[in-house]
Amino acid sequence: MNKQSITRELFDEVMVPNYAPGKIIPVKGKGSRVWDQDGREFVDLAGGIAVTSLGHAHPGLVGALVEQAGKLWHLSNVLTNEPALKLAKTLCDLTFAERVFFANSGGEANEAAFKLARRYAWEHFGPEKNEIISFRNSFHGRTLFTVSVGGQAKYLEGFEPAPGGIHHADFNDLASVEALISGKTCAIVVEPIQGEGGVMPGDKAFLEGLRALCDRHNALLVFDEVQCGVGRTGHLFAYQMYGVTPDILSSAKSLGGGFPIGAMLTTAKIAASLGVGTHGSTYGGNPLGCAVAQKVIDTVSQAEILKGIKARSERLRKGMMAIGERYQIFSEVRGEGLLLGCVLTEAWQGRAKDFLNAGIDEGVMVLIAGVNVIRLAPSLIIPEPDIDEGLERFERAVKKVCA
Ligand SMILES: *Cc1c(COP(=O)(O)O)cnc(C)c1O
Repeated sequence: MNKQSITRELFDEVMVPNYAPGKIIPVKGKGSRVWDQDGREFVDLAGGIAVTSLGHAHPGLVGALVEQAGKLWHLSNVLTNEPALKLAKTLCDLTFAERVFFANSGGEANEAAFKLARRYAWEHFGPEKNEIISFRNSFHGRTLFTVSVGGQAKYLEGFEPAPGGIHHADFNDLASVEALISGKTCAIVVEPIQGEGGVMPGDKAFLEGLRALCDRHNALLVFDEVQCGVGRTGHLFAYQMYGVTPDILSSAKSLGGGFPIGAMLTTAKIAASLGVGTHGSTYGGNPLGCAVAQKVIDTVSQAEILKGIKARSERLRKGMMAIGERYQIFSEVRGEGLLLGCVLTEAWQGRAKDFLNAGIDEGVMVLIAGVNVIRLAPSLIIPEPDIDEGLERFERAVKKVCA
């Protein structure tokens, strides 16, 4: 098969139709710029979906990957390996955590988190304490357990029967949680900032309230930081920004900077409930993934990098608000750091995808979160000229859509 015959049309011939990819096929990236098959250049304000935290082909990440690739790729968990141990130690040093479990994705990190929460309750309080409370509009992954805990019914449609014992409350509404919680609750699962659900930050008082409710009912507080963690908010993890410490935290996306890895962080006491043989993953803790994630964490946790995220956030937020005002398209630009959601006004309801598509035509990649929010999640070290260029291109796209 020659290169010319690899086209977007081929997707429809050989791939399961669960995605609807755009018409271009990117072939190369450098920093926050990406090029397609025809050499057209794009400014990347999407970062994959909040994944390429240090941009494309970051020399440090390439170096870490290549160095490890020349040494050792895989051992399975019958033996441990140096990159996994080193990364786990780093994550424990930088967070509340004392123990780490590695997976390959966010969904798997959450699957481990939810299984651990049930197992911990089962061991300490008995089998009746198995209920999980999560939130409407939340997103936790695509495995059957994680779509069931997730708060978007459409993702579960046709896949039932779902696992039982899962209840959904309203995000940022503590009373709706109080109405559901009981001695049977083993965990409350929450994204401190809902990502897929429209870039909706949790209120500090709400997250503090969840912490207090969990303490009162002997339930575990699980923070899904798959999207909002690893520097997105300008803090290494969002829980540190809120000053509310969970019992279990899941991470992925930005953690690997584009290499598949997920992690579940917890305390020693809780981790003890996943004893030998209770859970596992063939690729979890893979040396390649851990070597890359080590470089990501070592970089993103530096004070100058975190400070730079706040400066970039201001620039991007101001630029989007200005575009919103000139074209009267946004009612609000919300979110933290480099996870921003531009909420479309009443007149533009349901049209987010039109702006994304027009952006591609003008050479800028953005994301959507639902049909009413344009989401931005660029590289955490995106150069400021690229922010400005991305904004200019996006404004041209908006002009076209509004014409
Ligand atoms: C993306 C995402 C997931 C799922 O991660 P995968 O790597 O796609 O399995 C889970 N939770 C949140 C908050 C996410 O944004």
